[in-house]
Amino acid sequence: MKIMFKDSPSPAPAKNRTPRIRFTELSAGYPGRPVLHELDAEIPALALTALVGPNGSGKSTLLGVLAGVIQPTSGELHHAGDRPPAFVPQRSAVGDTLPLTVRQTVEMGRWGERGPWRRLTRQDRAIVETAMERLGIMDLASRQLGELSGGQRQRALIAQGLTQESELLLLDEPTTGLDPEARERIAALLTELVTDGVTVVQATHDLEAARSADTCLLLRDGHLVGQGNPEQLLTASTLARMWESA
Ligand code: ADP
Repeated sequence: MKIMFKDSPSPAPAKNRTPRIRFTELSAGYPGRPVLHELDAEIPALALTALVGPNGSGKSTLLGVLAGVIQPTSGELHHAGDRPPAFVPQRSAVGDTLPLTVRQTVEMGRWGERGPWRRLTRQDRAIVETAMERLGIMDLASRQLGELSGGQRQRALIAQGLTQESELLLLDEPTTGLDPEARERIAALLTELVTDGVTVVQATHDLEAARSADTCLLLRDGHLVGQGNPEQLLTASTLARMWESA
């Protein structure tokens, strides 16, 4: 069953945007634990979409489905692109004791193309350098991931995502827990990527980040309870209902 708030705008994505992903009656979860219940939505191409909801509402699960790492249990999912998406996991999901340097972390983004532990080509190395420069982490290249601040680590993970050269970038809570400067830096980068032709989807419970998106999907208890323009959707009354009993 789909629950829509009465005052939610009609479930239309931002105007004039063709969908990059469309799903209908999409359900998914884990063995013995259904999480997402018959979701219908479109993710517009060349836009920044925020998946918003309280902890446990199913944002990461939906991102996993969009990334292709979690199989839907029913429903349909249609991708309009032909390259696999680049997926930037939550920082907390990446062990900080792994003995990896920033450069090695970013290089791992090329494994999909090259195969793990294979020697990178000159072109791969150029792609890695460009991504590190873009994220401003060249001076951290030889530092261990575990010694970095949250914001620096997040930038290394995003750089890894960029080296996959996908036109669909999925990020799980990229700004959560960061200081305001690091959050703004990442928000600005995501907007720039859209201008460069990337479709960006971020799961977040950072409402500032959600408000800077072009469109958002609101999740509660695995149900889609609203979708559309963040300014219209993320009103105080909607949020109070979203977070109550969450
Ligand atoms: P969010 O990203 O909004 O915090 P999640 O998608 O991570 O939500 O989780 C939704 C629900 O699925 C939660 O109740 C969580 O406990 C459950 N869940 C998440 N991952 C797993 C898993 N690997 N196995 C079983 N249940 C899980």
